[in-house]
Amino acid sequence: MVISKSMEALSAGASVIRKMFERGQELAACYGAENVYDFSLGNPASPVPYEVKNAVFSILENQDPKYVHGYMNNAGYGDVRERVAQHLNARFGMHYGKEEIVMTAGAAGGLNIVLRALLDPGDEVLCFAPFFSEYRSYTTNYGGILRVVPADTHHFQLDIEAAEQRIGERTKAVILNNPNNPSGAVYTEETLRCLGEMLQRAEQRAGHPIWLLCDEPYRELVYDGRELPYVPAFFRNAIYLYSFSKTLSLPGERIGYLAIRPDADCCAELRAALVLANRCLGFVNAPSLFQLVIGECLEVKADLAFYDRNRKLIYTELCAMGYDCVRPEGAFYLCIRVPDGDAAAFAERAEKHHILLVPTDGFGLPGFVRLAYCVPYERIERSLPAFRALAEECGLHPENGNAQ
Ligand code: PLP
Repeated sequence: MVISKSMEALSAGASVIRKMFERGQELAACYGAENVYDFSLGNPASPVPYEVKNAVFSILENQDPKYVHGYMNNAGYGDVRERVAQHLNARFGMHYGKEEIVMTAGAAGGLNIVLRALLDPGDEVLCFAPFFSEYRSYTTNYGGILRVVPADTHHFQLDIEAAEQRIGERTKAVILNNPNNPSGAVYTEETLRCLGEMLQRAEQRAGHPIWLLCDEPYRELVYDGRELPYVPAFFRNAIYLYSFSKTLSLPGERIGYLAIRPDADCCAELRAALVLANRCLGFVNAPSLFQLVIGECLEVKADLAFYDRNRKLIYTELCAMGYDCVRPEGAFYLCIRVPDGDAAAFAERAEKHHILLVPTDGFGLPGFVRLAYCVPYERIERSLPAFRALAEECGLHPENGNAQ
């Protein structure tokens, strides 16, 4: 036996999203990329903003290479962390200092260092279905157990009562992803306030902090003029995790940050543990060049119009064909309720029409498939006849759809 038992188990359930993505590449090699409609991966198609490119060139040309490419404090460059703190303070009325900011290798790196810092084997982490399927491995990486609150498949909001019932003595953290991957839901301010109040009650009962990990890589992607509340403003033990992967189209650069409130329980101790976790997990520090780049680009806006245009086209067209779609309010994913509930069989059928969709069973949402619409607009346009043929094959009729 070469690999560990835990790794064996993990590879047996290897990410269905990645498999789909690879399948898409195979199909493209056979039929031509323009005849394959790959909606499997959340790889943003909106171009990298010019401000980011300019910052890369300017930093490389004008700054000392030893500074740009050298080792540094494991938390990240002090001046970039200071800028991040000021940015969050100005935007959300917070009181972060640079000490409360740790630069991370994306949201994935951030979640991993937090869970490394918090969990002992057997500790529990709660999350709400549907959830980003990688939370399972991030939790088990450190011997933790992921407890899942079942999805509310009508409103796709949070079932706070069901969450409260699942919080036990060993619950160390709750992961909250808003806007949500895969449902596209945006949680209301009222729901989030109820969650904060519930966690305060649970902390009092438990006699220890229950950390709320606010995983928000899609924060800037909220449609129809809605505002996303900043949860750490009303829950002291919230850890905010942000990433530039989605909003600035930089997933390969692995850059993000986390923020802890200075008045959080055991703030100094936790901060030190997070910085150490960055080092001992082998990230050492977030990628240096892109720390400096985002330090220059904190005010650069995501191209919301790009995704909104895609969202409107795919949602309207699919509903008109008879698909039962969850109306996306944020992020860049659309969930489709599968007619007979068998998501794997439906995804296979779709693949025969060269449409790649991801069954959401691994996201805690059986009976649905996820469509990532962060693709070129033309791909959506070209895919529509294939979706129409699939709808006919599945016996869907326009009156089954749910266009609003
Ligand atoms: N959290 C959620 C909800 C995601 O959807 C993703 C990526 O798809 C991540 C975290 C990881 O993102 P990053 O590239 O910032 O590590």
